[in-house]
This record gives sequence, structure tokens and C-alpha cells, in this order.
Amino acid sequence: MAIEQLSEHVYYLPGGVNAAILVNEKEAVLVDTGGDKNYGRELKRACESLAVTPVAIINTHSHADHYGGNEYLLKHYDVPVYAPEFEASIIQSPLLEPVYLFGGARPLPELMNKWLLAKPSKVDHFLAQGKLELIGLNLDLLDTSGHAHRHFSLLVDDVLIAADALFGSSVIDKYPLPFGQDIGAQIASAQKLKDVKVTTTLPGHGNPSRQLLDLIDLNLAAFERASNAIFTAAQGLSSEEILQESCRILAIELNDLPRYFLNLCVVNAYLNYLRTEGKLSLELKNNRLLWAQIAS
Ligand SMILES: [Zn+2]
Repeated sequence: MAIEQLSEHVYYLPGGVNAAILVNEKEAVLVDTGGDKNYGRELKRACESLAVTPVAIINTHSHADHYGGNEYLLKHYDVPVYAPEFEASIIQSPLLEPVYLFGGARPLPELMNKWLLAKPSKVDHFLAQGKLELIGLNLDLLDTSGHAHRHFSLLVDDVLIAADALFGSSVIDKYPLPFGQDIGAQIASAQKLKDVKVTTTLPGHGNPSRQLLDLIDLNLAAFERASNAIFTAAQGLSSEEILQESCRILAIELNDLPRYFLNLCVVNAYLNYLRTEGKLSLELKNNRLLWAQIAS
């Protein structure tokens, strides 16, 4: 993996996930660490080639692919870890991610792979909206919750490190049901980013963009397509049936268990959102939980 520079102080390591390396003189802050020790090792090598030493790790949220490199890096660097409150609990007890995906029960072994179950990491500080000064840089932290229950993006120089608050265009094309856990918050967070003035945006997955507003519109359109498909599918059916029907509408083929449960989580997030919006009703009938459209 080759390091790319986005501004005077911001580099990133392209990969399945984009981790950022903020540098000032001889020091660095790592923003997300990838899914495992291999990505952690790549980040260590990247820091060595930039002749900087990490002095802090920031995790934007608790999905395994964003903090799984922590454990390896913390073996080499004795540094504090910053993460959002709530997400910190999962980073410290990673089994919680497959547990919640399997509805709270002991997870299927298929859900305990490196994409969904990372090595645990300590968390020293909770992130809070506003300024955070590290290595002489003024980081501006933005609460962009919704993709995960708590999620932060960062502004450094004229770069927005959006993490998974925004997906790159290639990712949107590939995953018509973009992952989100609190859809109302996810939409509001994307809208909020319209006020940000930057020249470059680094999404958590996909290529950096020079056109933030276009990227936001692309993401909002994808949320709306997903919402419409799930609303259309909600004809007095269960979550699983609505997942099946919305996959048919969006031409999605779920061919492994992690993807099935991730998408079922997204469908449940949209169903709850649409009910909050007054568009769907929920009824427990003959021991089945059924979602139906409310006639307007
Ligand atoms: Zn994520």
C-alpha cells in the first residue's frame, strides 16, 4: 500500500478501509487502524517511512474494520486511544458486535471473523464535538453519528476525514443498502456536512473526493433509494421477508452470513426510522412481528 498525501499534515493509507495519518514534525496521530494486525503493520511502516512516531490513536467508531489494528500498534507504541463513548464499550469488548448482529444471542461462528470481530483495545478518552489539540494541530471533531450509534468525523487543514459518515461513490454502487444503525441521525449527519468548507474529503471506504457536496448528494440519494425500497417492501411482512423483498428491488444477492446479518441490521434500522416518521406501523400478530404501510 502506498501512502498518499492530502494536505500539509494529512496522509492516508488506501486499502479496504482508509486510515489517516496526521503528522506534525516528528509526531503522528492515527485516525482508524484497519481491521487487523496486517493493516496495523502497514500503518507502522507508513509512519516509519514518513519518519514520524504515533503519539495517539483516534477511532471514529467501533466497527471492527476501523479499530482492529489497534492491538498490534499498541504493542509497539504506548499511546492513548480516543473513541466515542458507547463505541468505546465495543472496542473494549469486541464480541458485542457479532452479539448485536445476532440479536443478542451467542453469535454464529460465521459472524466471528475478522470483519466483525477485532482484537480488543483499551480506550483512554471519549471524543467530544469541538476542538481537540494534538501534536500541535487543531482538530475539529464533528459528531456524525448514524452509520454507527456514535461516530465522529474530523476536520484537519482543509481535509474532511469523514470516515463512514460518507461512502465513496464506488462503495455506493457496490452496496445499495449502505450500512447504518440510526438512519435519522445518519441522514442528519450527511446534511450537516454540507456546511463544511473543505477541498478534499476522505471517506472511510473508496477514493477521496474534491467535491464534498456531490458526494453528500450521492450518499443522500442512496439512503433515499434504500428507504423507498424498504418502505415499498413493507406489506404486512416480517423484517426477514422485507430484507428478501428489498434485496429483490435493489438487485442485491446476499451470499454469506455476515452480509445477511449486516443487511438485516440495516433493514431494521430503516424500519424503525420509517415508523418514527409515521410511515409504517408495527403489529405483533400470530406471534409474528409485521410491518405495514400507513395509508396517507
Ligand atoms: Zn463502519
